[in-house]
Amino acid sequence: MSALRERVFYAVLDLFYPPHCAVCSTPFSEGERAFLCADCDGKIERIDQRHVCRCGCPLPEGLDLCPWCAAESERVFEQIRSFGWYEEREDPDHVLSTLIKTFKYGGERALAPLLAQYLDEAGRPLRPQIEQITFVPMRPKAERERGFNQAELLARELGKLWGIPVVRALEKIKDTQPQASLSHHEARRENIRGAFRLAKFTPCASILIVDDVYTTGATLTECARLLKESGISQLYGLTVARATQKIYEDPKHRAQ
Ligand SMILES: [Zn+2]
Ligand SMILES: [Zn+2]
Repeated sequence: MSALRERVFYAVLDLFYPPHCAVCSTPFSEGERAFLCADCDGKIERIDQRHVCRCGCPLPEGLDLCPWCAAESERVFEQIRSFGWYEEREDPDHVLSTLIKTFKYGGERALAPLLAQYLDEAGRPLRPQIEQITFVPMRPKAERERGFNQAELLARELGKLWGIPVVRALEKIKDTQPQASLSHHEARRENIRGAFRLAKFTPCASILIVDDVYTTGATLTECARLLKESGISQLYGLTVARATQKIYEDPKHRAQ
C-alpha cells in the first residue's frame, strides 16, 4: 500500500473503530494498532494448555481425566479445547469475558479476528486431525436480530487462518433458553434436546465444532451426536472460553 493509501485506509478504519482498548477503553497513542492495551492483554484469563483433559479442562498433576470425563458412559468427542475462562456474571475486570460479551452482545464483529487467534492458539494441537470446521447454529430469527452468528464468524476466521473449509453442517430448529440460565442438569438436557438437525452438506471423516463459550458441554454434545449420525467418526470441539462454574459442579449433575 502506498503511504497515502495507507493513511486513508487507517483514517476510514478509525471512523469505525476509534483506536482504544476494547476492554478498558484506554485510548491508544497515534499509530498504535491493537485490540487490547498491554495491561488488559497481560490479564487475559488463559487456561494452561500443557496438561488438560480431553474435555479441555486443566488437570492437576497425576490425573489423566477429570471426574466428569471419568464418569462419562459414552465418549462423544475425541478432544475439546478452550482458550480461557468465562465469567457469566458482570465483571468489567474479567478481560476475556468482557471481550466475548462486547463481541456477542455489543455487536463488535471487528473482534472476531482476535478471538480467532485465541482459538488458533488453544486448538493448534487439533489442527492436523481436522478436515472440516463447523459451528453451533442459531435460529434464523435470532441471527437476524443479532445481525450475525458469533460462532459462525469465529469458525470462518479460524477457517481462513488454518486453510480448512467451513461448512454449515447443522440447523437450529427449536428456540432454547441460554444454558447458563438453567441450573439443573435435567433442565439443560431438556432445553437442548431436539434443538438441532443436520443440514445438507458432504461430511468428511473429522470435523471441528466451534462455539464462543462452553458452559456445560450440553450444546456441543448435542451437536456432536447429530454429526456422528451423518457418518463423521471423529468429533472435535473448540471454544474461546469455558464457564468457570463448571469446575465446581458435581459430575453427577453434569448436563449430559
Ligand atoms: Zn485495556
Ligand atoms: Zn474431562
